[in-house]
Amino acid sequence: MGLTPGAAREYVAHGHQVLIETGAGAGIGADDAAYEAVGAKVVATAAEIFAKADMVVKVKEPQPSEWAQLREGQILYTYLHLAPDPEQTKGLLASGVTGVAYETVTDAAGALPLLAPMSEVAGRLSIQAGATALQKAHGGRGVLLGGVPGVRPGKVVVIGGGVVGLHAAKMAVGLGADVTVLDRSLPRLRQLDDIFHGSIHTLYSSIDNLEREVFSADLVIGAVLIPGAAAPKLVTKAMLSSMKPGSVIVDVAIDQGGCFETSHATTHSDPTYVVDGVVHYCVANMPGAVPYTSTHALNNATLVHGLALADKGLKAVAEDPHLRNGLNVHRGKITNKAVAESLSLDL
Ligand code: NAD
Repeated sequence: MGLTPGAAREYVAHGHQVLIETGAGAGIGADDAAYEAVGAKVVATAAEIFAKADMVVKVKEPQPSEWAQLREGQILYTYLHLAPDPEQTKGLLASGVTGVAYETVTDAAGALPLLAPMSEVAGRLSIQAGATALQKAHGGRGVLLGGVPGVRPGKVVVIGGGVVGLHAAKMAVGLGADVTVLDRSLPRLRQLDDIFHGSIHTLYSSIDNLEREVFSADLVIGAVLIPGAAAPKLVTKAMLSSMKPGSVIVDVAIDQGGCFETSHATTHSDPTYVVDGVVHYCVANMPGAVPYTSTHALNNATLVHGLALADKGLKAVAEDPHLRNGLNVHRGKITNKAVAESLSLDL
């Protein structure tokens, strides 16, 4: 769901007409009446929205049947992930639509502000998922992460201390676990040390440190990212036999191929499998488990640029270099350098 009722209200307050597909808010507990109450109009089909709207706001990329419904002069504002998807790219180029992709919008710090909320959700969720998998009935070694008075807490090792890693560490510390974060960036380790005031251990991510920590962990969170590249395989299959039987790995980086050699993508309906006694949780779309939180978090991040696009159209892109970085396709041309390069297409 691209717009919460609260976000729809902001567009209405800016003088725009907002069309919502009937039932679209069901996943976040918002019925049609909630949208009508803020001045939006509920319509029977998505096709009606594609036909009438100057700007279409979504979460996920359009489906093949929707490519043909998009048109030149229309703005599409959503996650697109075109780099690994030549078919969708072809479909969008053929439509002539102006596609602004959440995942390539930047901010002044050079970060990706419309991707960060999903990393926050996945990072926090990774500890809940890992804690559940550690329970005996779910194949885990039967460890309670917080321990109890007189019994050691569980040991959580987070590989990669970026957005996912920070939020995983926060949740694990909150539960009372013994937490270690490994990263290759010393500036980042310094920041984490400041944030946590000694309530976590920080370690440089060398082979030595990584092995020692992973072998003694109850729960390992894979949260590394090398921008534009597949995740490095930091934990090999051979290493699993030295891990504690029933320990758990949550490979959040699975959407970039995963940082455990034995990871393969799983789904919310069947999230875990066991290799060499180690429970693997590798759900590729973790935020999908908590659509209420994810949608509100995403809307907080997308609203300002969305309103600018609705108010000013292409002028908003021309005025703001960070929004300009979000422009992926326009009138049949690729307009993002990284996307063009990865698809070997011309700008
Ligand atoms: P980020 O860029 O904020 O952090 C990545 C961190 O990894 C950086 O601090 C970097 O220094 C560190 N790193 C790189 N190489 C390393 C190494 N060899 N050892 C240790 N650390 C290393 O990225 P993020 O937003 O935290 O995202 C992490 C991963 O989670 C990405 O692959 C992202 O796509 C993925 N993700 C998955 C889901 C999901 O649902 N599965 C949701 C959100 C994000």
